[in-house]
Amino acid sequence: MIYLDHNATTAILPEVLEAMMPYFTSEWGNPSSSYKFGSKLKSVIAIAREHVAELIGAHPLEIIFTSCATESNNSAIHAALRAHPARRHIVTSAVEHSSVLNYCMALETEGYSVTYLPVDRDGLLKLADVEEAITDETAVVSLMWANNETGVLFPVKHIGEICRSRGIPYHCDAVQAAGKVPIDVKGFPVDYLALTGHKIHAPKGIGALYVRRKALMSPFVYGGHQERSLRGGTENVPLIVGLGKGAELARKHLPDYEKTVRPLRDTFEEDILTSIPNAELNGDKEQRLSNTTSLTFHGIESEALLILLDHEGVCASSGSACLADSDDPSHVIKAMKPEGLAARQSIRFSLSRETTELDVRSAATAVTNSVAQLRLGLSAACVN
Ligand SMILES: *Cc1c(COP(=O)(O)O)cnc(C)c1O
Repeated sequence: MIYLDHNATTAILPEVLEAMMPYFTSEWGNPSSSYKFGSKLKSVIAIAREHVAELIGAHPLEIIFTSCATESNNSAIHAALRAHPARRHIVTSAVEHSSVLNYCMALETEGYSVTYLPVDRDGLLKLADVEEAITDETAVVSLMWANNETGVLFPVKHIGEICRSRGIPYHCDAVQAAGKVPIDVKGFPVDYLALTGHKIHAPKGIGALYVRRKALMSPFVYGGHQERSLRGGTENVPLIVGLGKGAELARKHLPDYEKTVRPLRDTFEEDILTSIPNAELNGDKEQRLSNTTSLTFHGIESEALLILLDHEGVCASSGSACLADSDDPSHVIKAMKPEGLAARQSIRFSLSRETTELDVRSAATAVTNSVAQLRLGLSAACVN
């Protein structure tokens, strides 16, 4: 198998599994218990919280553990709306993850108005559009750091500065940025920021939300006093430990990430773009994560190509894994290239530090052969 779908999920690193194991087996207590068997786990959680905080330059008290980034994104938007109940307007973009988009759409049915900012053909956002969209009614701006389908980076520092100058809370979905680009929440005005374990070689089902110390927070999940009463539910100790270890390792490997991954991605991209006619890159060539490439193969349905690639053992996707069960074309590519069929004819490949040169060379050959096979089939069908 050649796995080129790391923006969908990543393998748990052996060190992460090893760190979690005791909390699945012998150390199964409840951190809220009064006796040591449980209460000693509080310090284990505290260490994990420090690692997550360090990955993004935050203070540990600014980190809340959640069940996933979907919950983190929902909670941040929810908290900002609760903080300013009279404001009924949200600014986001047309290319956000479904955990932001579908929550915003649900809020529209409850009487909120939402501005979905457009992007250009390269997936880039115009700061002037952000500036213009904000009104006295705006309760929150939610704009992602790096796009999961194209890897395109938004100018988060400038977005934060605009929001700060207008007195509007800024929430950033940084799931795809974490571990791939440096994040320092001290360096720019952001109030809420979402992370998840399974995109940084930690388990699925554990996320985190950064909440700046002065930002208003209210629970999305009400319950006990866990997470300083900001997120109810008995702490998932093994997964919290896994996220902590994943964050620690992501921080350790960050200085080498770009150097390791970008040349492989560029090799893969060049191999494909030189050997396949009518293939086109989606997303700005520079303002982009170093691990992601989204390509349109004109005339070829992405679903047909994915089936052939699957036969060849290559794992890739036609968009977000969260939407793969639906027949809908990619909303991200559609927002970039509304005319034509690119949204139905695009494939995302995403690498990791574990990807090898042999992986990308073999995958490029598999893609080239599969595209040729499909195009041959198409022209044969035309002749018949
Ligand atoms: C994967 C992803 C999410 C959702 O994370 P979960 O932990 O699976 O809920 C949110 N935003 C982006 C950009 C993602 O890539």
